[in-house]
Amino acid sequence: MRSTLAIRAANQVKRAKQLESRQKGQIRIAVWDIGISASELGEVLEEWNALKGPFAFTQVFISAPRQLLLAGERTIEVAKKWIRDVDDRPEIQSNIFVEGVNAVAEDVRRRLGFDKIAVLTPHMLAFLEGGGFCYNYFSVSMGRVIIVSGFDLRNYARKARRPFASAVGGLLLAQVLVNEYPRLGFHQETRGCLLDFNRDRGGLVQTLRKMRVEKSCLEQLPESARAYAAKMADILAEFE
Ligand SMILES: [Zn+2]
Repeated sequence: MRSTLAIRAANQVKRAKQLESRQKGQIRIAVWDIGISASELGEVLEEWNALKGPFAFTQVFISAPRQLLLAGERTIEVAKKWIRDVDDRPEIQSNIFVEGVNAVAEDVRRRLGFDKIAVLTPHMLAFLEGGGFCYNYFSVSMGRVIIVSGFDLRNYARKARRPFASAVGGLLLAQVLVNEYPRLGFHQETRGCLLDFNRDRGGLVQTLRKMRVEKSCLEQLPESARAYAAKMADILAEFE
């Protein structure tokens, strides 16, 4: 058992580290895995942090409240207001309606004092946007909350011959960049770029196989972030 003193010391180290990254002007991002068991993701985050770029990632280990773990019923309830043939679309059951996730995650982010929080959930993502019900998404972000879906991702990773942690990192990287740099967006065409939208979800295999941010997408980033984003993708491509 750790003594109170040890915990206090650990907290001090943590605070010192947070202060250090704040002084460097880094954007501190908490990564909260609520059920995709991406055990090796920590190694990816360490390698990203070693680049000492604009982002500093920290894994947080907190048990998730029940409403973050359940998908189905609430999503279907919302979907029925927007879509007529919900019963013919059984995959909606595998989506979590992200509004609830967003509120809880934002509360955790604020209490822990991070700039952003990335939640990793085992469900696909459903939300309302532009007067419509969107579902089956891989990732989404609202304000300071980023949500990444691990649904079927082990399967796509295997087909792309990538470790699971690398696939999670690919989805996370794309959404972090889009969230931080609004000029960048996902594109409809699947071009083997992490910014592929992949309406046809299977297209993700090609995206993960290439594991890069193509030049035309990098050019949407501020110049200071381009080489850094490319290196983050390289780390994912080389991760074994
Ligand atoms: Zn692209």
